Amino acid sequence: MNQEIHDTFDREHLWHPYTSTRNPLPTYKVDHCEGAEIILSDGTKLIDGMSSWWCVIHGYNHPVLNEAIREQSKNMSHVMFGGLTHDPAIELGKLLLTILPPSMNHIFYADSGSVATEVAMKMAVQAFDNPEKTNFATIRRGYHGDTWNAMSVCDPVTGMHGAFGPSLPIRFFAPEPQCRFGEEWEPEDFEPMRKMIEDNAASLAGVILEPVVQGAGGMRFYHPQYLRELRECCTRNNVLLIFDEIATGFGRTGKLFAWEHAGVEPDIMLIGKALTGGYMTFSAVACSKKVAEMVADSQSGVMMHGPTFMGNPLACAVALASTKLLLKSPWQKRIQEIEQIMKEELDEARTWKCVEDVRVLGGIGVVELKDNVDVGIFQQHCIREGVWIRPFGHNAYIMPPYLAVSDEQVRKLCHALLNIIKRMYGE
Ligand SMILES: *Cc1c(COP(=O)(O)O)cnc(C)c1O
Repeated sequence: MNQEIHDTFDREHLWHPYTSTRNPLPTYKVDHCEGAEIILSDGTKLIDGMSSWWCVIHGYNHPVLNEAIREQSKNMSHVMFGGLTHDPAIELGKLLLTILPPSMNHIFYADSGSVATEVAMKMAVQAFDNPEKTNFATIRRGYHGDTWNAMSVCDPVTGMHGAFGPSLPIRFFAPEPQCRFGEEWEPEDFEPMRKMIEDNAASLAGVILEPVVQGAGGMRFYHPQYLRELRECCTRNNVLLIFDEIATGFGRTGKLFAWEHAGVEPDIMLIGKALTGGYMTFSAVACSKKVAEMVADSQSGVMMHGPTFMGNPLACAVALASTKLLLKSPWQKRIQEIEQIMKEELDEARTWKCVEDVRVLGGIGVVELKDNVDVGIFQQHCIREGVWIRPFGHNAYIMPPYLAVSDEQVRKLCHALLNIIKRMYGE
């Protein structure tokens, strides 16, 4: 092993996401990052194909975002949000309400995506304030985070139900939508969900799902008509609709937020990941006036959540700077260009024997293989190819930092992805 980029202390003492202490996958030591590149401690340069899990949309070490952090730290890096407020929180809130669905009227700042999911589910339960109406429905192949309630609505197979099964609350799962984005809509696709909601409306507080793009649970793109049907069905059955846009937000799918593909609004919406341009952990839960009033009318009368670092000023300041930077940029045109390049470059894999499917939407390019990908071996190839891609399950995918990558870098990512698959599994 190359000692420059593999650290013994790290291997022996630090837990990385989803790894074993006995036989951990190799980790590569990063020296610094710049633009769309990750530079390892031995000088190896990798083009980032992951945006550090959806969030680094402007690229690394961005002067505007660095400055926002520096400036805010001169005033205060943190101050409690209980009984105090500040301009970064207020200005960010004002800006978010101009870009979120028009009916969103209240914002709860939370610490991470998973916590946002918890807050949204608590909000829905509090809104009904009825011990009979506390459960949730979702679709299979979803991902909503790693905390307890978030796990309970993740896909039962690709999620963590295996490890935590009996300790998780039991939720209602409809099959994942079959009609794909950009293809014909078939009304039967919604029927299992309709039946589930109608049969269980008395016990359901909400339906939670990722609109249009299912991320970490399956990297699937489904028909927006599903969301129109779901909106109508939730309203008719008095169930709150929660859109988890933690992965899809801030342009990734080609729209600023994925609900825009369908044109129907949720009652509660979650954002995170790219909210701070990948600088800090931060998330927000937005809800309509109606939901806020339901919570206010409940017995406790208040939203029962209040994390220590709620509304952290550094996070608010960098989120404000990142969102402004995004809105000023030609993001939509850039994402369309990147989408076009990925469509051209990845298409040839469609006919390969090891490949199940190739799909591209906005800044997301997926090659779905017939079998699970060996992540450790795949990443050794990545280092040699000068790219950073981390496959999950059957899916090898790229989602580059769209406001930092060049056309050339996107092509290099696509070529490297196909070369590695070819080398590991043949055409
Ligand atoms: C990543 C993700 C989460 C969880 O966010 P964390 O910040 O990792 O807790 C929740 N929902 C979706 C759709 C995500 O992609």
